[in-house]
Amino acid sequence: MKRYLILLLCLSLLCVSLFSLAVSADDSVSSIPMKVGLYENSPKIFTDEEGNAAGFWPPVIDYIASKEGWEIEYVHGTWTECLTRLENGEIDIMPDVAYTEERAALYDFSEETVYVSWSWVYARKGVNIESILDLEGKNVAVLRGSVNVEGPEGIKKLVSTFNVDCVFIELDSYTEVFETLDSGEADAAVVSKDFGNLHEADFNVVKTAILFQPASLYFAFPKGSSSTFIERVDYRVKELKEDTDSIYYQSLERWLGVSPAGRTVIPPWVKWALLGVIVVAFGFAVMSFFHRSRAMSKNKELMAETAERKKYEELNKLKSDLLSMVSHELRTPLATIKGYATMLVDYDEKLTSDEKIQSLVSIDKATSRLTYLVDQLLDMSRADAGLLELEMDPANPAALIRQAVAEARLRAPDCSFEVDVPAEGLPPVRMDVTRIRQVLDNLLENAIKYAANGKAVTVSARLHDGDVVFSVTDRGPGIPEHELERIFDRMYRIEPQAGVSAKGLGLGLSICKALVEAHKGRIWAESRPGEGSRFIFTLPLGDQENSRNVAKDNQNPRR
Ligand code: ADP
Repeated sequence: MKRYLILLLCLSLLCVSLFSLAVSADDSVSSIPMKVGLYENSPKIFTDEEGNAAGFWPPVIDYIASKEGWEIEYVHGTWTECLTRLENGEIDIMPDVAYTEERAALYDFSEETVYVSWSWVYARKGVNIESILDLEGKNVAVLRGSVNVEGPEGIKKLVSTFNVDCVFIELDSYTEVFETLDSGEADAAVVSKDFGNLHEADFNVVKTAILFQPASLYFAFPKGSSSTFIERVDYRVKELKEDTDSIYYQSLERWLGVSPAGRTVIPPWVKWALLGVIVVAFGFAVMSFFHRSRAMSKNKELMAETAERKKYEELNKLKSDLLSMVSHELRTPLATIKGYATMLVDYDEKLTSDEKIQSLVSIDKATSRLTYLVDQLLDMSRADAGLLELEMDPANPAALIRQAVAEARLRAPDCSFEVDVPAEGLPPVRMDVTRIRQVLDNLLENAIKYAANGKAVTVSARLHDGDVVFSVTDRGPGIPEHELERIFDRMYRIEPQAGVSAKGLGLGLSICKALVEAHKGRIWAESRPGEGSRFIFTLPLGDQENSRNVAKDNQNPRR
């Protein structure tokens, strides 16, 4: 019995000492200090307003740190300072580093790719840069020491391949790069795709079609770092990438807009088919537009000579204004399509399926924008040529408003919409339902676009003096009184107000006017600057005989 007691005592002592050993080992692990380089390149990595590291990389780093028992200390600097510190061993890890042979001679790299990025050339608005050749004689702002500048596929190598002579202005952050472009000191700039996507709207810059240098981004370590240490980092990155719910995918989605749900492999024929459809649809729309323009000029020839000359001159001016505005407006979505399509074709193997899906989504959005612009142009030329044909049927105004608002809610989930129609209902009105729906959609789109800060939009209809009076009211910045009539002129746009940078051709309201007037109605705007705007249009009730058969709600007013 005594022997058993002694044995038990020995075992307990062994357990206690093993436990305390484990605890002390754990303590020592949790206190491994780790210096990590931090530089300003939002949304990938940057310092937030509270002075903390933020962006895509920090959550990934924090995860590895928590698993490996590191205590992270971020060391802030410019990109070149960070790389120098890495070379001197003053920091232990540098995120967001693209691999090149030259860099591999100076630092060690993780094996697992953490993210794939590429670079865009931007131009200042008004500066025409469509290919590398257009950089001849230009000042180009770039990030000092970046792989997209100095790397084997960087901009310096690219311009020298084409014998293009330009001056590089080297700066310490992408923000400075865009600021320099915006101020006019530079004509073009090179930034990473993520920085460009996030900040392009804040500066007077446009994306060109020049996309280059897809780069895989890794963690880098001082030369001679322990291979076990690097393997641990790789192991954790792999672990994160294998779990679609991990912080890695959450961070990708939050900061870079890449969704793990889209990680299906796209068969190559899809992108070719999509490209084909875009090219054919666009070609068709352009042909149709020019065909109608020609028809329009023929019509004019029939007019009396003096009136004809006057009209012809006006038309010429309008055409050149239109062409310059159209080419300007079309260039942005076309540049996006061209850029992403080229990348899909040229760099197919280097891109992850996420990157491919992201590219296709961008192409899809840009195509919708193009379709919208081309539709506006076609409608305008139809109105000019007197070819607006209306299919008049009785329709229920309240139902039409409800459907337009229901779809606007889907397009602008942040806006609140209110429908205000009389409880007793409204009589049916004879109209071309598709066209009047187009008017409502245009007015709602403008309310969302120009008055998003106001958030609340009310759409109403009332009976007044033999007309049904529709109105769309927003609580946005409003419109100055002297502009209230002119905004219905073709291609008339008010100079963008502070905080509002909506794009457009200035055709929407002129098309609305043509459509409402074709219905023998009127359209106008009222506004109190600072309080909001109201767009009002009327449709005459006219002959009620034909309107009797209207169902209470039109379920499908779109053709
Ligand atoms: P676009 O939107 O394409 O510029 P529109 O004909 O729709 O062309 O509008 C002409 C101009 O009227 C716009 O550029 C804008 O300045 C102004 N505008 C239209 N709707 C609103 C609104 N709801 N609030 C403030 N301004 C508006």
